[in-house]
Amino acid sequence: MKFSKLAYFVEQIEKTSSRLSITHLLAELFKKLDKEEIEKTVYLLQGRLAPLYSAIEFGMAEKMIGRSVVTALSIDKKSFENEFKKIGDLGKATEYFKKQISLLEHDDLSILEVYDSLYKLATASKEGSQDVKVQILARLIGQLDSLSCRYLVRIPIGVLRLGFSDMTVLDAFSWMIRGDKSLRPQIEKAYHVRPDLGFIGKVIKSDGLAGLKNVRPHLFTPILMMRAERLSSAKEILEKIGKCAVESKYDGFRLQIHIKKSKVEEVRLYSRNLEDVSFMYPDIIAGVKKEIKVDEVIFEGEAIGFDPHSGNFLPFQETVQRKRKYGIEEKAKEIPLKLFAFELLFLDGKNYLEVPFIERRKKLMSLIKTSGDIFKDVLITAPEEITEDEKKLELLFDDAVSKGLEGIIAKKLNGVYKPGAREWNWIKFKRSYSSKIDDTIDCLVMGYDYGKGKRTDFGIGAFLVGIFDEKQDKFLTVAKIGTGLSDVEWKELKVKSEKSKVKSKPALYDVDKMMECDVWVSPLIVVEIKADEITKSPVHTAGRKLKASKSGKAFEVDVPGFALRFPRLQRFRDDKRPEDVTSLREVKKMFIKQTK
Ligand code: ATP
Repeated sequence: MKFSKLAYFVEQIEKTSSRLSITHLLAELFKKLDKEEIEKTVYLLQGRLAPLYSAIEFGMAEKMIGRSVVTALSIDKKSFENEFKKIGDLGKATEYFKKQISLLEHDDLSILEVYDSLYKLATASKEGSQDVKVQILARLIGQLDSLSCRYLVRIPIGVLRLGFSDMTVLDAFSWMIRGDKSLRPQIEKAYHVRPDLGFIGKVIKSDGLAGLKNVRPHLFTPILMMRAERLSSAKEILEKIGKCAVESKYDGFRLQIHIKKSKVEEVRLYSRNLEDVSFMYPDIIAGVKKEIKVDEVIFEGEAIGFDPHSGNFLPFQETVQRKRKYGIEEKAKEIPLKLFAFELLFLDGKNYLEVPFIERRKKLMSLIKTSGDIFKDVLITAPEEITEDEKKLELLFDDAVSKGLEGIIAKKLNGVYKPGAREWNWIKFKRSYSSKIDDTIDCLVMGYDYGKGKRTDFGIGAFLVGIFDEKQDKFLTVAKIGTGLSDVEWKELKVKSEKSKVKSKPALYDVDKMMECDVWVSPLIVVEIKADEITKSPVHTAGRKLKASKSGKAFEVDVPGFALRFPRLQRFRDDKRPEDVTSLREVKKMFIKQTK
């Protein structure tokens, strides 16, 4: 397919805010593509050249792109800058100038040709690579038509933002095959094992649905991590899963470790939101290289800061200082990390996802070769007790809490590892808080209002947060938060929001008129919120039901939505993807539990 045709589809997608229309447009586009094209087109639609966890970046700022446009179209730099300022959008400014000289013949390049050039651009890394990048982009601008140019230049600066999620793409795959969304669960299951939309599209095109059944863990493609359900007593846990393995719940950050030993040994670490964070934790990489001696493995654990003087583990607030881009080596000396290993997913060609927990655990233990000296080892096998005794389980919980840990995780003995799912195979039992809800709620920041009074300094006075409804694939609001943040947190929120602000409300947001924001933010920022209670409110859309008014002209609230009472920010959860925020299903459960 020609890139100009893709640009036509992208324009249609950009024009609509209806999720269903976007899904149909994507499905129609996907139908017309072959297996190579679908893979690369999916990445381009996400403004990328590879899946999110892959490190390929364009390395081009707005200014450099401006240089490409000026070079390609031989226009005056000043007049380009002025026009860009006026229009406020690099894509449209480029399109404007390209149109002026559109009498120039342009080659109708294919999507694959454009992709290949962009790939060369991104991977140019030697000296003088900046000029090479500018030239490659300039050549493309020269060759493509004006509408194509609008979208082409938005790709390297990451502002394509078409307002659809990975889930919309999965739905579109289903529509492509069957003309409805009924195949989404099947497609999603494969995606949870290999969350690479381009790859999934390619498999469907090559081998149809049958191909998806063979999707297995793949080294250096992070598997979506399994999550835990919540309960708040030993009794409930035993009633639910019976005899179980009990482990402490460590409060650090989760890592998925991929190791492949061939001529050179490669180790990669992935975070909860599937980012490659290998560069951040050189101490963990060195440790696993020494303490795990197999050819290929994927396993998981919780990384916790360790005090090398006292031999104590550190609280989350200190561990989190290890999440940084600079000064990594020094911080690693000051706060070394230990990794509590708890899950095995893949080993030497064998898929362990379907293997019962107790066997996965046994195998994992047998792989770890440590000295037993906590000061020297990096890996620790999370101690575990198997029990069906209520008192014993309560004691284990009390013991964990008295050590300053968050609580425990009970694991079903024959439970499989279900990528991406929150199910009863793992149950967390956390310290109860004084409030009526005994857990925090992870929310997405959807937008913000400008500040009044003192807050004008920060440029942000209140922010709207929401949870996720998996069924509708929409973010629904639960609170607008205007207090409870320190000055530093307000500033951090402003900086983060500024980076991801968008012109209009994203199609994935369902927001009541009363809760509209001055500035909308694309789905990126996840925050952990503590609240006293879940209440009901007609202005929040989480769980709200509308019905037609008597006159039939408007809608009125039939069932009010869920809202958070006294919400306050606990911390930013940069390790979570937007879809990982608390779900509507969970909030409903918390609400029911609280009213009991
Ligand atoms: P929370 O917000 O309650 O910390 P979460 O939303 O980050 O939880 P959950 O899936 O709800 O994630 O809780 C499980 C998390 O607990 C895991 O992601 C992991 O990071 C952490 N964890 C700590 N200790 C263990 C353990 N022994 N086994 C499994 N997970 C553990």
